[in-house]
Amino acid sequence: QAPLKNIDPDVAAILNDELVRQQDGIELIASENMTSFAVMEAQGSVLTNKYAEGLPGKRYYGGCVDVDRVERLAIERLTKIFGAEFANVQPHSGANANQAAFMAMAAPGDTILGMSLAAGGHLTHGAAPNYSGKWFNAVQYGVRAEDGLIDYEEMETLARDHKPKIIVAGSSAYPRVIDFARFRKIADEVGAYLMVDMAHFAGLVAAGLYPNPVPYADIVTSTTHKTLRGPRGGIILTSNPELAKKVNSAVFPGLQGGPLMHVIAGKAVAFGEALSESFKEYQTRVLANARALADELKKRGFDIVTGGTDSHLVLVDLRPKKVTGKLAENILEKAGITANKNSIPFDPEKPFVTSGIRLGSPAATTRGFGEEEFRTVARMIDEVLTAALEEDNADAVAQRVHEEVKALCRRFPIYTQASA
Ligand code: PLP
Repeated sequence: QAPLKNIDPDVAAILNDELVRQQDGIELIASENMTSFAVMEAQGSVLTNKYAEGLPGKRYYGGCVDVDRVERLAIERLTKIFGAEFANVQPHSGANANQAAFMAMAAPGDTILGMSLAAGGHLTHGAAPNYSGKWFNAVQYGVRAEDGLIDYEEMETLARDHKPKIIVAGSSAYPRVIDFARFRKIADEVGAYLMVDMAHFAGLVAAGLYPNPVPYADIVTSTTHKTLRGPRGGIILTSNPELAKKVNSAVFPGLQGGPLMHVIAGKAVAFGEALSESFKEYQTRVLANARALADELKKRGFDIVTGGTDSHLVLVDLRPKKVTGKLAENILEKAGITANKNSIPFDPEKPFVTSGIRLGSPAATTRGFGEEEFRTVARMIDEVLTAALEEDNADAVAQRVHEEVKALCRRFPIYTQASA
């Protein structure tokens, strides 16, 4: 079998360029990570050839003996990590997992209560352009202006006024611990289901460093590719047998066709890794590194939304530096630092411009960065953004920092034989 570079040099060249980009740049996108070679090997396997509609032991296709084994293993490991009774590992993505969870608990036209996109919630929690905002009567809670923390009182008032079928907790840009007990209490009071989307912090939960939502929620959804460090994909957990049945039929035949068995194999590998002692150590470093990054940026005059972080994520208010999120994202990319612009709560700028950037520690921690390196990263961000408005200097500073970024990355190689 000839290698890809002989069969399709065009695609091989693109893959190689992306490999070099990941090796030589500092990845700070909070929702990204770098999987192990083992996860990628499982994904690049013959399991990509297999149709397996249905569930292990109950398939609509023959020849499922091996994929049944791998899906069972994924489920077994996943339920063990989070202490849930049932799991569905088939959702192709986090968005699909959320859609299936909604389908299991509500019908179009029902009311759902979730965190607004502007406050840090996810699109699929009821935002207007998403199906969740179109098919449901979506009511949205936010955060408090004074401290950026979830406005639990607003959420409770909205729950009492609107009697939603589902209350959704979880977000994409909220750095603090969420009070799941408080969500459970109001859900019980108004007769709503509680759904927790732990996509961002699932890896920290797996390591016992963030409260586990499973004992509180009727359904927990997640992606597998963020802090959990698996392949791109989604999962659904519940300990309620009735809901488990509904979730299974919402995923298939409700929303999806054949599951991606090669991705499920990758999930099984990642869940195995997440059960290891070294994963706990990794997540401990993810948390310490995010805190060091926030602390150093604060010392350098940046505003950190909520004042700090309890997770892998740091939401930076750039207004003290007079740069927008859009400009910051662009100039940091020139310096080899990848991050994404992000609205801050009550952002005066439009969502395509924003006043903030969202930073995360998972990917750079995977390649071995410690607190010292994250403080260096904060210093480099400060240098690049401080010069960002100086027309004759901005690019030169970004260039100089880019050289420093490459040198730092070479000290922490990733995806080389030596790092395997
Ligand atoms: N839920 C949350 C909280 C997320 O942050 C995201 C993605 O960023 C998703 C769901 C959607 O995941 P996916 O991109 O895999 O559809």
